[in-house]
Amino acid sequence: MSVAIPHLIPGDEIRLSASTYVTWKKCPDSANARLQGKYGPDTRPAFTGILAHRIFSRHLRGGPIESDDFVQVCREEIGGSNLNNKLAGLEMKPSALGGVIEEVRGLYDRFTRLPTDGFEGSEVNLKYETDDGLQLVGVVDAVYREDLGGHRLVDWKTGELGEPEDQLMFYALLWALDHTEVPIYVEAVSVRTGERYRAVPSSADVQEVATEVARLASEMRTAWSAGSRLEKRAGPWCRFCPILADCAEGQAAEALLS
Ligand code: SF4
Repeated sequence: MSVAIPHLIPGDEIRLSASTYVTWKKCPDSANARLQGKYGPDTRPAFTGILAHRIFSRHLRGGPIESDDFVQVCREEIGGSNLNNKLAGLEMKPSALGGVIEEVRGLYDRFTRLPTDGFEGSEVNLKYETDDGLQLVGVVDAVYREDLGGHRLVDWKTGELGEPEDQLMFYALLWALDHTEVPIYVEAVSVRTGERYRAVPSSADVQEVATEVARLASEMRTAWSAGSRLEKRAGPWCRFCPILADCAEGQAAEALLS
């Protein structure tokens, strides 16, 4: 396997996550905003999803969570993480939090029916840094070893499956750079709907992502040094964009869709 990120034009350091890469594929200027530290509003579904992922990981690392302990375990996870800050931002009342915890309980019940054969790790941190100032980071929900050798990377969705291809291929790239092997499979599973997407990434697929990532970084550096904006591409994702209030294209899309 020889996957490599092409050289970048010189410029500022860039720390790129899967979410920012996926955002860039939809709208480059929105990704630019994320790289400047601007994020969209917190939402209840996002809060529910993060809490559910914490619970899934706890289950995989520490074993099943008893039904009687579930509420307390959720409260511990909220209190011991940045979910506490998000809770304040959402201005969620205690009664609404109870509803979220019951929703997470339902997701957890489904999650426990998933097979765990070959499980190697949950919330696996991946990182890779080039010698020209680009850092790629990602957290894979779960990694499994396949019987035939190699690994399967899994991302759990707590809503609908959506379009997970770009996110999964970013993880495949990061895994390939970090472990010098391309994963056998990348997979997304919706715990809510049962939908599943699985891909078999080739070295060529992963190299394509590496080339795109380099293009993203060079585009950003060019825009930053020139003080210019990047292309804006409006769509249903504008609703969650941190710069919607300043974007005519996004507001037009929102008006059309609302
Ligand atoms: S509001 Fe929409 S079009 Fe405007 S920058 Fe954000 S995602 Fe792009």
